[in-house]
Amino acid sequence: MDQIQIGRFIAACRKEKGMTQAQLAEKMSVSDRAVSKWETGKNMPDSSIMLDLCSELGITVNDLLNGRRIAMENYKEIAEKTMLEMRESKEQNDRMLLQTEVLMCSVSVALMLTLIVLAAYLEIPDWLRGLLIAVSFLQLMPCIFVALKIEQKAGYYKCRKCGETWVPNYSQVFFAPHVGRSRKMTCPHCGKRCYHKKILTKDE
Ligand SMILES: [Zn+2]
Repeated sequence: MDQIQIGRFIAACRKEKGMTQAQLAEKMSVSDRAVSKWETGKNMPDSSIMLDLCSELGITVNDLLNGRRIAMENYKEIAEKTMLEMRESKEQNDRMLLQTEVLMCSVSVALMLTLIVLAAYLEIPDWLRGLLIAVSFLQLMPCIFVALKIEQKAGYYKCRKCGETWVPNYSQVFFAPHVGRSRKMTCPHCGKRCYHKKILTKDE
């Protein structure tokens, strides 16, 4: 919500109705200063008088909150545009999460291999060798946990049989074997149990 734009819009509507700030203030039973604060964007009209103010100005509450008149036929378009923008930002976010996952796991696996090689070739006591190997596996755990969390959150799974797309919960992902980005799960729509594909957008 852009308060400055809303303020300008209130001022414009008031002038269209041929009212001064004082006249509008009197009709709304508020002070001139209150009206001035609305119009300069310092304050929003209180929600308790918003409906009355809108009917006085000949606009809808939706117009007021958007700071402009929105024609009925534009409502759908604006709502769809907002939905689309939200979805695009989820896709971007998902893509970034999946890249992070690959990077994080590569680093963790490289670290594990390094530690195992060190344990095998360094001339160190056996207890230290054991510790190195234990650490090499333990440090994978948080990585696996985060990776599974990303697997669950980012994108959707698509049923191979009925085409249903869904986001599984954490335990479904945890217990599902996977090959690449496909996971063996049961489709919540048709019940088909097989390797379902991971996709980034619902329309793919
Ligand atoms: Zn299905």
